[in-house]
Formats: sequence, structure tokens, C-alpha cells
Amino acid sequence: MLPDGLDDLYQEIILDHYKRPHNRGTVDGAELKAEGYNPFCGDQITLTAHVDSNGLITDVGLEGQGCAISQASASMMSDHLKGHTLEEVASLSHLFREMMHDHEVTDAEEEQLEDLAALQGVKKFPVRIKCALLAWATVDDAIAEYRKTHASS
Ligand code: ZN
Repeated sequence: MLPDGLDDLYQEIILDHYKRPHNRGTVDGAELKAEGYNPFCGDQITLTAHVDSNGLITDVGLEGQGCAISQASASMMSDHLKGHTLEEVASLSHLFREMMHDHEVTDAEEEQLEDLAALQGVKKFPVRIKCALLAWATVDDAIAEYRKTHASS
């Protein structure tokens, strides 16, 4: 189910999220929403979330199917949305993307990433990087769309 050679601890965190995904469901009347699809692997994600008048994400719903890495990454991402502003999420997304490419994360960044750092091991499997990034690409799309339709302020 997961590529051989992933660190055991990482494997455990990823499998745990895959088997019991967090924030499963759909938020009705969501201000933030996007669908993501990774054609290389067939992974799908639908993200819905409420954004309150202060620009804070208050409720998150995630639906999806696909490989363990894509779904675990989405579940882990969903834990980092609630209670955060769109700016904070966008900056975390940027950091996550850097981590999955060539950037060597610092201790401070690793602290900010928390459990998300577990997905670093996926870097060893270049074809799976898109799986890990799908959820973050989806939230980036959702934020871009939200900003387009709420551009008044
Ligand atoms: Zn995948």
C-alpha cells in the first residue's frame, strides 16, 4: 500500500490518517471549496470549508479517494485549517511545497510543519510527490477562488 523504504514512524502516521481520515464530510454552504485530481495516480479530493467574517476557517469537510499518501496528506492538511486564517494556510502550503522539493527544512520550520514533516519521506519516491501535494494544491485553488470572489476588501 505504501512504497517500501519509508521510515517506520512516518509510515505509521501516514497509515493512521489513511485508515481514519480526519474531518471527513462536506460543509454545507462552504465559502471555501475546490476539487483536486491527480491524473498520475487517480487521486481525488473535494475540500469544503467555512470562512467567518474575520477570515478564519471555522469548519472543514474533506471527501476523497485514492492512494494512501494522497488521502493521508489530505487528512493531515485538514487538521491544519480550522482556526487559521487563509494567509496562515497559504504560507504553510508554501512551506510544505518547499519541503517536498529540494528545500532542507530548518528546525523552526519543522516545528511549524508538526506532523506534516512525516511526509518528507515521500520525497524519496518522486512519482508520489504529486500524491502528497494534491491536498495542498487543492487548498491553494480554493483560496485563490475565494480571493477572486471576495476581492472587495
Ligand atoms: Zn496517489
